[in-house]
Amino acid sequence: MNKLIRGFIIVLVITFIIVSIFYVIKILDNSSEEIDNVSTLKEEKEDQLVTYGFTEDESNLIKSKLSDDNIKLIINNKYDKSLVLGLINNDYYIDSNLQRYFNYSNNNSDMKNNDIIKNVNSNIDNEFYNYDIQSDTSKGILMIANKFYKLGSDFDGYDLVDVPAKYSQYNTSFKLNKEAYEHFVEMWNDANAVGLDFRVYSGYRSYDLQTKLYNNYVNRDGKEEADTYSARAGYSEHQTGLAVDLKSRTMNTDYFEKTDEFAWLQDNAHKYGFILRYNLGQEYLTGYMYEPWHYRYCGVECATYIYEHKINFEEYYEYFVKNK
Ligand SMILES: [Zn+2]
Repeated sequence: MNKLIRGFIIVLVITFIIVSIFYVIKILDNSSEEIDNVSTLKEEKEDQLVTYGFTEDESNLIKSKLSDDNIKLIINNKYDKSLVLGLINNDYYIDSNLQRYFNYSNNNSDMKNNDIIKNVNSNIDNEFYNYDIQSDTSKGILMIANKFYKLGSDFDGYDLVDVPAKYSQYNTSFKLNKEAYEHFVEMWNDANAVGLDFRVYSGYRSYDLQTKLYNNYVNRDGKEEADTYSARAGYSEHQTGLAVDLKSRTMNTDYFEKTDEFAWLQDNAHKYGFILRYNLGQEYLTGYMYEPWHYRYCGVECATYIYEHKINFEEYYEYFVKNK
């Protein structure tokens, strides 16, 4: 009887062990199947890129920077290898812009890769005022307003405060964003300490005021001319409260660029979070003529980066701000 029970138990244990081994093998097999699937997928992509003519290193680089859809885009449309590598090796490559880079490159065959990236990131593959995007004003001091990004008629400036008349060219109080104002005062004090003096002749401007100004300019100079120096209402950086137009008080000239104040600001404005917004030679990109008097506050980190890397706010916004 005991032997029978013992025999039965032994058979049970052996059956249990066999069944367990069977299951363990099955589980291991399944998981290795999954790993196989993943590595097949990876190898498939790699194979396609290498088959296309990229080296393995280049293929790895492409896979690290591009979405699956963009990898397919390259292969299916047979885009030039050196163009692809030139684009993705640029510091400001934005993967979601890839199709636009290719289109822009097709229309501008002699253009350098760096310029393709710069121009498309600045949206000038579209026409000014014909590519309306609502500006995301929740970006605060980093919000953008240009000929592509509009603030619209409802936006009344960002966190505005009254600025004392002593900072005004006309000796009247005006409005600025609070943080911009505080940094402006620091900048003004430091400039004053070395014998310089500049005043603001235009700070925050409302949608209605911009409408009046722009319409006056159009009546005086015509629309085409007015567009080179004045924003249409809803598109002006002055509507944010982050921009100031400056005039020298130590040198009696309308050419702000020739003043000691301008020279000082060139070297120092970024330390207080201000950038020269409409640069010489960048008119095609900003949509505005060179304005040595127009400074915009975007914070010390942003202004210092722009100062050190010599890029426009458009490029900075698209790469560092828009989707963050
Ligand atoms: Zn201005």
